[in-house]
Amino acid sequence: MNSFQYTTPDSAFPLQGMPDADVAREIEALCSADHRYSDGSVFNSICSEPLPFASAIYAKYADSNMGDNRVFPGPHQAERLVLGMLGSLLGLSSVQGVLTSGGTEANLLACAAALREFRGTRRRVRRAQILAPESVHFSFDKLAALLDFELIRTPVDSQFRADIAELRRKVSPRTALIVVTAGTSECGAVDDVEGAAEVAARAGVPLHVDAATGGFLIPFARDLGYPLPRFDFSIPGVSSITIDPHKYGFAPPPAGALLIREGGPLQTFEFESHYLGTHNHKTLLGTRPGAAVLAVYAALKHMGWSGYRKAVGELFARRDELIQAARERSLELAYDPDLTIVGIRESNPEAALAHLESRGLVGSVSKRHRFLRIVVQRHLVQRDYDRLLSCLSEYRREVQAA
Ligand SMILES: *Cc1c(COP(=O)(O)O)cnc(C)c1O
Repeated sequence: MNSFQYTTPDSAFPLQGMPDADVAREIEALCSADHRYSDGSVFNSICSEPLPFASAIYAKYADSNMGDNRVFPGPHQAERLVLGMLGSLLGLSSVQGVLTSGGTEANLLACAAALREFRGTRRRVRRAQILAPESVHFSFDKLAALLDFELIRTPVDSQFRADIAELRRKVSPRTALIVVTAGTSECGAVDDVEGAAEVAARAGVPLHVDAATGGFLIPFARDLGYPLPRFDFSIPGVSSITIDPHKYGFAPPPAGALLIREGGPLQTFEFESHYLGTHNHKTLLGTRPGAAVLAVYAALKHMGWSGYRKAVGELFARRDELIQAARERSLELAYDPDLTIVGIRESNPEAALAHLESRGLVGSVSKRHRFLRIVVQRHLVQRDYDRLLSCLSEYRREVQAA
């Protein structure tokens, strides 16, 4: 837990207002150590600079509240349209769903809906289980704690993808939901969704696909000819999908979405408000930013299929250049990347990371697999990757000399 000391003048509640210019200066000072995506120093982030037009829309509609559809019907209209667009991106002509604050909330709603349904029909099961490969995002650890289910983790293969046979072995009458990932945030691994769908269908269990990271990459990369498997509603057993416009979708945060196959086994959870004429709420958040919804609309309409396809083509080309350059420097990859997250083997990845940080670069290390993790994103250009790799080579020379 963070603890706060309230007694210093800075952190006590301000007795009097201050001129905006002074407050703005304080805020600038507070954020002075922040990196800018445009610095070319951020190599750990799946989020990136939003499309400027989407940010402008966000700022313009900052007061808009999705929690009150009587005052703000517009963003609800936009939400329906966005869900339609995302549904058609993911292989469905008729879709249910909600826009959320991100992947965590979308996954929460999918789990909550599956658990409600499961507990309604299998009353004798003591504690429901949700089954997922161990590469599943750590948001599911939060959800297991919140929603009181047991998260059963199955092993992954050498490329950090789901081992489908292991998934099949672990299905039981206690399984409420199977979750697989289309683009893990740790290594971008795309699970065999078709294989998992077969397991789920045979067991009569819904299948949720967490495509928070991969949702805005895989459809376009497939169109460009990259050999990636199907992962979406074109696979009959897929019940629901999480996709995050605030990652590779060019929208400012907070922007996630949960899409559900209409008439499928998963229904969203839905609650009435106390007030006449107010929509049922289907999200965890009550007051939620309409600006975020309108900004997603802006990003999708501005980019279109051709815009995203071009952007993904550039990202994958950068990734391929990075892999090539790493190999030329005798840096070994931890796996063959499916998407835009590259893992570099290091015997002491923490020390390598510290070296990068001493040069002002932000990278990350997978704690459990112990590789240096580099996220290819649109805010980085060739020069930035060259700088990163030079720093790594420099680190290796220092280690060897020591
Ligand atoms: C980022 C991510 C999440 C969590 O999404 P937030 O938007 O950070 O809440 C969940 N699953 C995967 C696969 C992710 O990449």
